[in-house]
Amino acid sequence: MSGDSTSRLEEYRTLRSEILAKQGQRVQVLAFNVAAFGAIIVATAQKAITSLSNPTEGALIVFSGSVGHFAVLVPSIYFTIRHSQQISNIGTYIIDFIESKDEGLNWHTHWRKIRAPRARTALALIYAGLATVNLALSLLALYCVGLLIPSYYVIPIILGLISLLLTSNLWPFFKSMAEMASFLELLLASDVDNTLLASHEFLGGELLALICKLLESGRIRLAIITGNDYEKLQRQRVVEPVPEALRKNLVVYSDGCTRKLTFTDKGEEVESRDYHKQIAFEHGDKEIIKDLLALQLKEWARSYPDLHIPDVESQLSNGTIQLAVGPLNVNQPELEAQRDKFQERIIQELRQKCDKVQLVPSDKLWLRVHCKVREGNSLSGLKGIIETSVRELLSADFPDLSRPTIIDRGQQLALKPVKADLRETLIGHIKDKVCGDRRLKGQYGVLVGGRTTIDIQKYGVDKAFAMKDLKDSLDHQEEILYFGDSFGEQGNDRPVADVEGVQCISVGGGENLPSGVIALDGGPAATKACLRSILWALTGCSR
Ligand SMILES: [Mg+2]
Repeated sequence: MSGDSTSRLEEYRTLRSEILAKQGQRVQVLAFNVAAFGAIIVATAQKAITSLSNPTEGALIVFSGSVGHFAVLVPSIYFTIRHSQQISNIGTYIIDFIESKDEGLNWHTHWRKIRAPRARTALALIYAGLATVNLALSLLALYCVGLLIPSYYVIPIILGLISLLLTSNLWPFFKSMAEMASFLELLLASDVDNTLLASHEFLGGELLALICKLLESGRIRLAIITGNDYEKLQRQRVVEPVPEALRKNLVVYSDGCTRKLTFTDKGEEVESRDYHKQIAFEHGDKEIIKDLLALQLKEWARSYPDLHIPDVESQLSNGTIQLAVGPLNVNQPELEAQRDKFQERIIQELRQKCDKVQLVPSDKLWLRVHCKVREGNSLSGLKGIIETSVRELLSADFPDLSRPTIIDRGQQLALKPVKADLRETLIGHIKDKVCGDRRLKGQYGVLVGGRTTIDIQKYGVDKAFAMKDLKDSLDHQEEILYFGDSFGEQGNDRPVADVEGVQCISVGGGENLPSGVIALDGGPAATKACLRSILWALTGCSR
């Protein structure tokens, strides 16, 4: 995070504390008003009952009570309006000068749109209630005074008008109160890669702290909906960092939404059998598909030699070569060991030709190395030599590292890694085979998964399927927000946009989005800013 951004966030925090303090004072005024009003009503009613035999005295008591009420109400309303205006001024400053500069912090604007209908109903009721009470008291006081001295009509009329006038100025106060009252429970659902986390990242730091606070609040449930492998990736990346005691409000759909995991109060993992029954391979079908895929891989080896050679990208700048090799096949333990050996060999090779060879941390599927060219060597000549030797090394000594393999994930079969530029074509081939095989009765779908995978699973099982299951599992209606980065034409988050009652937020940009999806730029940073903003709204900072 840049220095500017950090200081803006610091200012945001300070201003937010001020808003919370003002809100506290406003609630104190309200509480005092309610208590005083209650005391006046009780005292007046008591006196009025004891004077039932004398109507004039009774009317005088009711009149005095009404005047007493206005004497408390008018200054209370004045202070409430003052605090509300100050809150509104700070809020406007935040919106204009801070939120506009940090992607995602302007979440309140979107938040209001989503919640406006519910907030408006609550607001209208409260507002109408207060105006009616004021009007009734004014009329009552008017009637009582009318019984006594007609010239005193003017006092309750003035008091009634002042309080009605002030009540009409209470809009910001009731607006924020109604928003807070309508914010009861929320279900947050999110994709993982490039939405919650960057593709090589593990949950930690500020994001983990935010998620823990949201789960601790007891009003938020978090659903992780991911195409990725749970056993090898998402358990370690997303679930294990969350303390066990907080996992009960977490649910995970993984492996292309073919697995559903919930957690007990102690944080133990539970596989959902009911969910798995709906999406299981029919008896024998998995073996048929595996055979079809194996045949297909053999065919591709002949027609697409490029498929087995990962991209070797190199860039030249200021006497250095930046080399990137990938995607690499590291889906099995023995291949992970091969990757380490390959890495060592590449470094050895480069040390013979260059000075200062440095490994750059990156995604498991990619190997990145920076090296400084020895003086006198031609940069572009060396680039060609290095690229060729890497390719030779891969095809001669580490062919398995560059070959896609079939992975059995229980209710899903996956083929990975597949180079991005070939994937669309290859998916077409697999679809022809799987959908055209009579034995399989058209029950299985072939999908894009992650960045380098082709998934085969029960037809219709996607993120929308998981989202509908999640909605059905709710005890009562909750607001649902879904964060994703891939809502484009072929994006795996796109189906969620069609699920009724789910507000989708795209943090991967705003092109070709389905209608109704809120577009933010900034990837995981935007999601984090939204979560921060939601947490702050939860803890009472609603403007
Ligand atoms: Mg994603």
